[in-house]
Amino acid sequence: MIVVQKYGGSSVADTDRVKRVAERVAQVKRDGHNVVVVVSAMGKTTDQLIRQAQEIAVIPPARELDMLLTAGERISMSLLAMAMHELGYTARSLTGSQAGIITDAVHGKARIIDITPGRITEALAGGHVVIVAGFQGVSRDSKDVTTLGRGGSDTTAVALAAALRADVCEIYTDVDGVYTADPRICTAARKLHRVSHEEMLELAACGAKVLQVRSVEYARNHGVALHVRSSFTYSDGTWVTEETDDMEQAMISGVAHDTGEGKLVIRRVPDKPGVAARIFTALADANINIDMIVQNVSEDGTTDISCTLPLADGPSAVRLLEDLSGEVGAEAVGFDEHIAKVSLVGAGMKTHPGVAAGMFSALSEAGVNIEMISTSTIRISVVVRDDDVETAVRAVHEHFGLAATEVA
Ligand code: ADP
Ligand code: ASP
Ligand code: MG
Repeated sequence: MIVVQKYGGSSVADTDRVKRVAERVAQVKRDGHNVVVVVSAMGKTTDQLIRQAQEIAVIPPARELDMLLTAGERISMSLLAMAMHELGYTARSLTGSQAGIITDAVHGKARIIDITPGRITEALAGGHVVIVAGFQGVSRDSKDVTTLGRGGSDTTAVALAAALRADVCEIYTDVDGVYTADPRICTAARKLHRVSHEEMLELAACGAKVLQVRSVEYARNHGVALHVRSSFTYSDGTWVTEETDDMEQAMISGVAHDTGEGKLVIRRVPDKPGVAARIFTALADANINIDMIVQNVSEDGTTDISCTLPLADGPSAVRLLEDLSGEVGAEAVGFDEHIAKVSLVGAGMKTHPGVAAGMFSALSEAGVNIEMISTSTIRISVVVRDDDVETAVRAVHEHFGLAATEVA
């Protein structure tokens, strides 16, 4: 049997925890299985490295930033390999590139386009524990080292599980499963025993960072079942699997929040055809993902356009639009970092009227002001001030009785 295990940053935050992870991995070996371990950088290493880069340059060169960030995962992989040796097991640590994680050339959010796991299978055949640095790969075109976006080690694990046809893919983190809301801010949140790829995809896309969106997308596309569990206990976690007939469809799967986006505001652009196209083409060409978009009612032939995008892309987006402001006739460009998005997700809401009304009432009763709204058939998202986010999540969770509902 091949077991893929991924340990997140908090699970390898210091050398004692690395030793504890080594013991867990050793147990899998003792049970007679082949094991591939994917590790994240220790604790908050990635954040620290980003901060250091920004002390030197507001917008660091993307190639160099990737080179820097991949160092974080190299530290944890080699320390874990050493810890395995101490326990009497031979281990081989591999960078993403050595492990055959082939990506496109988009720095900071590269997509995996192929896996060539020859060195992994060779090492497994040699009886070694294989330890792979998460969150990184190498571009086939540029030959440069790339990173897969924040939280990308989840995707490394899923991609390897798919490529190796692993029997088990375990995602070890600092909570014991996927909950109806982030258990750190909503103590009433309930653990889900099982959630479908589709529901998890929507939750992750709305900010439930327990799994990176792309990892869920990859798992769904390749039929990989995930077991999300805690590295601090041995209890069963949450199974993220294909939807099956016996899965009871809950109307609401959960509440997700995202404090990782900011709001770009482009003031007083001429309200005429082609302006929005020009702005959003420029952002797309710079590989900046846009989330919500709002265009205000026009006044005196001009209008304000706002959109939300990842905080990390804020400085580049502002610089890009300032350069463009002469051409499109914008008066000013601003970036508001103090927003948060709160989303209610549930496949059943498409057939239940009044869900949006319920969510807005809950927020109004909690005194939370809504700044932007967007909906899809299975999701309602609102933008609020960032310091209202906890109140908003709890109010919405409570309003829909998510603590009590029983699901599959
Ligand atoms: P890791 O370093 O292990 O990858 P992350 O910090 O990326 O861990 O993800 C785990 C965190 O996700 C938890 O600590 C929790 O605060 C957060 N989280 C957000 N939404 C949820 C949810 N619905 N269920 C569980 N955890 C959630
Ligand atoms: N270390 C990277 C991050 O902090 C990748 C990961 O943890 O999955 O985003
Ligand atoms: Mg993570």
